[in-house]
Amino acid sequence: MKALVALALPGLLVLSGCAAFTDDSVGLDNGVQVAAAFYPLAYVAARVAGDAATVENLTAPGGEPHDLEPTVRETAEVAQADLVVFERGFQPAVDDTVDENAGGAVLDAADVVSLVPFRDHGVDSDEDDPHFWQDPLLLAEVGDAVADQLSDIDPAHADDYAANAEALRGDLERLDREYAAGLADCQRDTVVVSHDAFGYLERYGIDMQTILGLSPDSEPTPADLARLQDLINSQGITTVFGESLVSPAVAEALAHDTGVRSEVLDPIEGLSDRTAGEDYLSLMHANLRALEEANGCG
Ligand SMILES: [Zn+2]
Repeated sequence: MKALVALALPGLLVLSGCAAFTDDSVGLDNGVQVAAAFYPLAYVAARVAGDAATVENLTAPGGEPHDLEPTVRETAEVAQADLVVFERGFQPAVDDTVDENAGGAVLDAADVVSLVPFRDHGVDSDEDDPHFWQDPLLLAEVGDAVADQLSDIDPAHADDYAANAEALRGDLERLDREYAAGLADCQRDTVVVSHDAFGYLERYGIDMQTILGLSPDSEPTPADLARLQDLINSQGITTVFGESLVSPAVAEALAHDTGVRSEVLDPIEGLSDRTAGEDYLSLMHANLRALEEANGCG
């Protein structure tokens, strides 16, 4: 049962795939099964699935999804799923597992959305920035694609999947409007974050500066830190943002050295003990409030 996603969604039925525990009258022991590679994809899949399909998250809560190495059990989930939703390039070991083991349909989010190169987010790299879920409108595109796939797999519930995807899109478009309005009029537009997970928010007029660059477990150089200290001092930056799934030590040290606050901005790559009761929408709202506060918006 541990591998099942228990998302806090009204009406979401989470069932074990094990027939021994399933009442025949429920009739869902052979229901549609979706394996989602990490939390934002699992959130979208669960919203679209509603109670017509079950969704499992391959990245256990508290895990850092970048370096996930699928276990035997997760490999079996990929093999048995009617639909695997993943993002090629974000979790290399998951890419291999999907290529070698997927037995059903496969949906690559990187095929659905137009990823933006890191260099367009001010980072010196030709790689695409995988953190597209920071843009709610891009996540809505994945929701529509999940609905299309599930409708092909399970035509009897096609109307449900379409309606669920439309409701999700409504929530995500509202969130996008809240970000645009909330960040439209701020005293500062520079935000210092630990790793480069927030480039897609630059669409709302924010300039993201990172302490660690591309990888959450790299170390900043003294030159990087000196540059950020100058930036914090010259622009009157009030807050340095660490994040939830990696050690906040570097962000806290930089905040301490420059006499500013250290707060959490959640990249929403996964839930943790601290955020177990949250979901994508509530975490995005908390991030927006933290950004508004730090940059003196409104
Ligand atoms: Zn990341």
